[in-house]
Amino acid sequence: MSEVVLRAEGLKKHYPIKDGVVRRTVGHVKAVDGVSFDLKAGETLGVVGESGCGKSTLGRLLMRLEDPTEGSVYFGDRDIYQAGRSEMRRLRREIQIVFQDPYTSLNPRKTVGAIIGEPFDIHKDAVPKMGRKKRVQELMEMVGLSPEHINRYPHQFSGGQRQRIGIARGIALNPKVLICDEPVSALDVSVQAQVINVMERLQDELGLAYVFIAHDLAVVRHISDRVAVMYLGKIAEIGTDEEIYDRSTHPYTRALLSAVPVPDPTLRGERQQITLTGDVPSPANPPAGCRFHTRCWRAEAICGVEEPELIERADIGGMHHSACHFVEDVMISNSRS
Ligand code: SF4
Repeated sequence: MSEVVLRAEGLKKHYPIKDGVVRRTVGHVKAVDGVSFDLKAGETLGVVGESGCGKSTLGRLLMRLEDPTEGSVYFGDRDIYQAGRSEMRRLRREIQIVFQDPYTSLNPRKTVGAIIGEPFDIHKDAVPKMGRKKRVQELMEMVGLSPEHINRYPHQFSGGQRQRIGIARGIALNPKVLICDEPVSALDVSVQAQVINVMERLQDELGLAYVFIAHDLAVVRHISDRVAVMYLGKIAEIGTDEEIYDRSTHPYTRALLSAVPVPDPTLRGERQQITLTGDVPSPANPPAGCRFHTRCWRAEAICGVEEPELIERADIGGMHHSACHFVEDVMISNSRS
């Protein structure tokens, strides 16, 4: 079994809500509220959920762009939140991030060569023997960009090419983990596929582990080995892509999946449509009991009182965990749909 490269334990991020002249804390937005998982070397963990579920905050916590309210993130055996400045600088080489929007995440005044080489400005000892320019050109080739375009500016590239620039910058320091925060959401579908192919090839070549954050379940299925479904700051269900997409045990996952378009018209009628009613509740005031109970199609009285734990479902598969009081019923309706 592959080694665990990154482990989140009981991760929480609560932002204070301030009010009044003296800026008194009157509550907290619970963006991430107790998230735990392992990420193994070379695997892709997809993180999905509606906007506002906390997945991007989780991505930022995983590479310590923010400090958590509670919990730990281990890279190997080391809790990254316990690391001092110089150790953190070393750890940052191992965990890198690719941002969502290739149109705003690249400095328009810098050449592509300068952007991809940015990590070497901070980590001067990481410039390889071949020299900075050669390494940047090598990285451009690795992501399918022409090295001759090293002196061009971001506006001279298409959206897909810009995201390749972001990926080249992300892998410049040979990290073990790449946090990908909605890396293809701003791109057309055909371009999305090209960028995903580049990411899969790089993963094979470099043994990278990805945390792939996205709201598009079809894209996540394509690239992920395992998938975590988040709702209001917590993991509702986590398992292998097959366990989540074909044998889901959580009403929220079932509802999300039922909204994914089915290309084959002959299969459309067979699938049970589940419509989510109401808006996502505020993370400043999440519902008592199961956070999903105000919108859940399977909810009963207990759901508004008792919070279900995220427990292992060995009957579904060794990796499968689900947080629902009525997993068995959902499994039955799953097999009928
Ligand atoms: Fe729905 Fe209840 Fe399960 Fe929550 S615990 S997902 S409200 S059935």
